[in-house]
Amino acid sequence: MIQLKELEVWFITGSQHLYGEKTLKQVAANSQAITQALNDRDEISIRVVFKPVLTSPDAILDLCLEANRSPQCIGLIMWMHTFSPAKMWISGLNVLKKPFVHLHTQFNRDIPWSTIDMNYMNLNQSAHGDREFGFICSRMRLARKVIVGFWQDPDVLDRLDTWMRAASAWHDAQGAKIARLGDNMREVAVTEGDKVGAQMQLGYSVNGYSLGNLTTYIRAISEAEVDRLVAEYDTQYNVANPLRSHGPKRASLREAARIELGLRAFLDAGDFKAFTNTFENLEGLAQLPGIAVQRLMADGYGFGAEGDWKTAALVRAMKVMSAGLDGGTSFMEDYTYHLEPSAMKVLGAHMLEICASLASEQPSLEIHPLSIGDKEDPVRLVFNVPPGPGINASILDLGNRFRMLGNQVDVVAPAEPAPHLPVARAVWIPRPDLKRAAAAWILAGGPHHTCFSQAVTAEHLEDFSEMAGLEFLLIDDNTTLPQFKKELRWNEVYYHAAYGF
Ligand code: MN
Repeated sequence: MIQLKELEVWFITGSQHLYGEKTLKQVAANSQAITQALNDRDEISIRVVFKPVLTSPDAILDLCLEANRSPQCIGLIMWMHTFSPAKMWISGLNVLKKPFVHLHTQFNRDIPWSTIDMNYMNLNQSAHGDREFGFICSRMRLARKVIVGFWQDPDVLDRLDTWMRAASAWHDAQGAKIARLGDNMREVAVTEGDKVGAQMQLGYSVNGYSLGNLTTYIRAISEAEVDRLVAEYDTQYNVANPLRSHGPKRASLREAARIELGLRAFLDAGDFKAFTNTFENLEGLAQLPGIAVQRLMADGYGFGAEGDWKTAALVRAMKVMSAGLDGGTSFMEDYTYHLEPSAMKVLGAHMLEICASLASEQPSLEIHPLSIGDKEDPVRLVFNVPPGPGINASILDLGNRFRMLGNQVDVVAPAEPAPHLPVARAVWIPRPDLKRAAAAWILAGGPHHTCFSQAVTAEHLEDFSEMAGLEFLLIDDNTTLPQFKKELRWNEVYYHAAYGF
């Protein structure tokens, strides 16, 4: 359901008329060559579209208006090949609504010492032309990413693609619809928040739907459709004995399949990109959706349990950022600690709803009691998550602003099998270590729900936050608590002043 190749990033080159037609033609040819090279690289996930070199205020304004109107354009790459007097950019940048990245590069990598002359100098002026552009962006207080380096360097391409993926998620959130089924888990604070504020700043709308809306779709599912999906389960998963055909719990598996099909139909009919539910409000459902949610997330839907719409939106955004990359992305919760002093770690899980994209092996399909809520035993996929780096991210509502909070972690193999643990689980060591990471997370007001990913990086989240005007805090190897506390205090003042009324 996520197709990055249908989107466009526009390659914008700034110049002026001072240098004559011949130089401008060369500038255009060089920009086209860079555009072509970017499109030829597998690392670049969005189609790059060359736009004619801009040399006047009117042309710049027209281009920015065109970008705003284009449904495919998710953002712009800006580059001043030569010098482009930046007052020309004010009217265009004033109206531009799409994110942009400032690519500070030069067409020729090396100085040709034996032949360099003034013609070469005039053509290759980005070293100072891009400074003029940077000034006007800073003077206008415009959020943007600045990438410095030769346009063929792998790290430049990597940072550019990271920005493109963040821009794709930003684009995807604009006008996105999120369904909140059954409202909030009662009395829980962190999953609440300002939905109007979120729509104004982040672009997505959250609306509530009764369980009756959903059960209408579930009841309309035919036995033949259930047969087909259960057969798919049988081939894709290691099905536990009670759930196999003729097993005593086969009917529960069929019910789980019916719920998945009904949920899909409901989300499809409403054009929803993400949804929430809550185990306290399941009227008309026989069991809490487990495998249904695990598979819907794997297909790109955002999800938040217990009414957590902020996390549902973030899961969706991180699904878009990571489309096609190795590594899974899921709704997650810091569940249980291992506090042995030399090996402190976190067991992350949820009641059921961990995305199947994280599975390190063929998941087993099981049924167990839930122990809370008051429904039939739910069917779920159980698996481990492969070792390696990952990140936990969350968005919280501080009353006057939203905060994006990230923590880099390292997933480790569980020390021992846990044969009675009936849910998918990830075991990780937070950076810099559990004591400092958890203290920083708690001081920052970080939620218990997160989006966990082994594909998204801190830079994706930072770029996304920049586009959204979100505060971004990262807990990583460099975090010290005294410094982190100061950052929290300073940010209170900064955002109070920056957001105003
Ligand atoms: Mn929860």
